[in-house]
Amino acid sequence: MDLGILGRPAERASFFEAVRRGAPPGGGLYLPSRWPTLPVGELMPLAFPERSLRILEALCGPEVAPALRQIIVEAFDFPLPLVSAAPQRELLELFWGPTAAFKDFGARFLGRLLSWMAERTPGDATTVLTATSGDTGAAAAAALWKLPGVRCAVLYPARRISLVQERMLGSFGDNVRAFRVEGSFDDCQRLVKAAFADPTLSTRLGLTSANSINVARLYAQVCYYFEAAARTAFERPWYVVPSGNFGNLTAGLLAWRMGLPARGFVAATNRNATVPEYLATGRYHPRPAVATPSSAMDVGDPNNWPRIKALFANDLEALRRTVSAASIGDAETLDTIRRWHREHDRLIDPHTAVGLAAADAILGAEPAVVLATAHPAKFPDIVQGATGVTPPRPAAIEAALARPFVVEDLPLDAAALAQTLLAWK
Ligand SMILES: *Cc1c(COP(=O)(O)O)cnc(C)c1O
Repeated sequence: MDLGILGRPAERASFFEAVRRGAPPGGGLYLPSRWPTLPVGELMPLAFPERSLRILEALCGPEVAPALRQIIVEAFDFPLPLVSAAPQRELLELFWGPTAAFKDFGARFLGRLLSWMAERTPGDATTVLTATSGDTGAAAAAALWKLPGVRCAVLYPARRISLVQERMLGSFGDNVRAFRVEGSFDDCQRLVKAAFADPTLSTRLGLTSANSINVARLYAQVCYYFEAAARTAFERPWYVVPSGNFGNLTAGLLAWRMGLPARGFVAATNRNATVPEYLATGRYHPRPAVATPSSAMDVGDPNNWPRIKALFANDLEALRRTVSAASIGDAETLDTIRRWHREHDRLIDPHTAVGLAAADAILGAEPAVVLATAHPAKFPDIVQGATGVTPPRPAAIEAALARPFVVEDLPLDAAALAQTLLAWK
């Protein structure tokens, strides 16, 4: 279905265009111009792929309808457990995909859409170019690996991502290239931005990004909220969402606008408290991120926040009626990991721990589905430090570590990146 552009009310984009571009060329963010209301009662008994097909048909519209069934079956080909973990707490385990974090849902759906679109417009290249501080790049690379018609280039800062993350990034090859840059994540981000700003490069390579700005990622994530609603033992639970760039919460609120039965949402952040402070005070103060144990949520200026404001027509009171927020400190995060191991015999990762701590702080004994966003084995040092136990690695991580490791060194220089990409055969 057609999309509007935040800040540019007169303009519209097709779904195809919004997915292909990621972000509108003149700035702003794509957002559905209206959202479909689903026949929720009818959808609940369906199996995950069938229900997801109905949801995504309604969201994406007719352009991609012929391909959706196949894309869904291939993209969501891993388990999605909803476990009863403690009284009034269910965990929706979103981490059983190839890179052991929830980003696999969005990235795999987006990757397959891009590949299908590329095959229908032969002659046009499609190159996903992204800078990563760890998780996003690996999810994009894993999702695009070996897909026809698309390529993926990931830039990462040398020595500033974890060993497991680096080994994963270098485990693909083929149509995926991982570039190690001597610099920070922000330096990598600057190189990527320079490439996007270069019209020749951008057009010849068909550059697109894979971050949560792309609406296809958000749409894919809507599906698992409805799956939780179909399987939960609670009547209208809260949904607790560990948040950084707020893509995951945007998807939840979109689901809610489409009819998801929910008491409300809890936005759980680490010390990067821009959003909790806004909900408390009405003042929105983006700022540089600070480093915490839940590093994938270290975001001080969340890029999906304008979408959430728009979903509530900029009405702070309406937003407060549906979304609560809490900011969790580092010590409390580690203590939550320790406590869940001791009291519930369960290893949880630091991001999920922020969600569980926020649920306790805000909801007490109210029923909640907490989104478990990463497998604890992605953060072995933190989990080991808090519990004394090293989390066993899931098969997907083992498989990546068993493949050959290939990365390329790239100078911190926009011209060098341009040359390298243009020479890619
Ligand atoms: C990216 C990420 C988050 C934050 O998700 P947003 O959609 O950016 O709010 C939380 N947990 C993990 C493990 C992540 O990788």
